[in-house]
Amino acid sequence: MELDDIRRRISAAEQAAGRAAGEVTLIAVSKVQPPDRVEAVLAAGHRVFGENYVQEAAGKWPAWRERFPGIQLHMIGPLQTNKLKQALELFDAIHTLDRPSLAGKLARQVQARGSCPQLFVQVNTGAEPQKAGILPDEADAFVAQCLAMDLAITGLMCIPPEGGDPVPHFRALRQMAARNGLAGLSMGMSADFETAIAQGATHIRVGSAIFGARDYR
Ligand SMILES: *Cc1c(COP(=O)(O)O)cnc(C)c1O
Repeated sequence: MELDDIRRRISAAEQAAGRAAGEVTLIAVSKVQPPDRVEAVLAAGHRVFGENYVQEAAGKWPAWRERFPGIQLHMIGPLQTNKLKQALELFDAIHTLDRPSLAGKLARQVQARGSCPQLFVQVNTGAEPQKAGILPDEADAFVAQCLAMDLAITGLMCIPPEGGDPVPHFRALRQMAARNGLAGLSMGMSADFETAIAQGATHIRVGSAIFGARDYR
């Protein structure tokens, strides 16, 4: 299956970059995919998945969690504050912490629950108006603000502008993470995950290369 091919390509990219084998976490992005495709990947032993929509994830994953122990679910889509509580019940990691209002609400929920998902701050490295994420100029201050609220930040996440060279964006994200003392780098998708691994990605988010094209109808 495609998953095996992706695993091989990840290993090769880790090796080529002089990185330890298994250092990169593959997040299989299953949004909008038919259940049989996702179940095939679960049956093959993969346990780390990414979803973009709280509602969709809530409809699919509780049942799979019962059948396949050890699932780790990552939220990689924009998060509305009114969905936050539900998101915290579903997800082990959130890659899209991108604004002070969300951080404030999250900090209060985390205190109340006594547990915190793994957190990545999303940076809009291309400063694209239509895209979510904190602007690069504001990222350092936002990370500091999160830490001051006792939110443990694992790393940074970005989605480079479509159609361009992703390398400057991956590099900028790596430098931003380094100067903030953050180890995690969530970057790289189907089209560019090997490039992202060469640039230091710790978490890659791969959808269509594993499951096939998405049909949004
Ligand atoms: C959908 C999505 C992906 C996966 O994209 P592919 O090109 O199918 O690999 C990765 N990251 C985010 C944030 C996404 O929304």
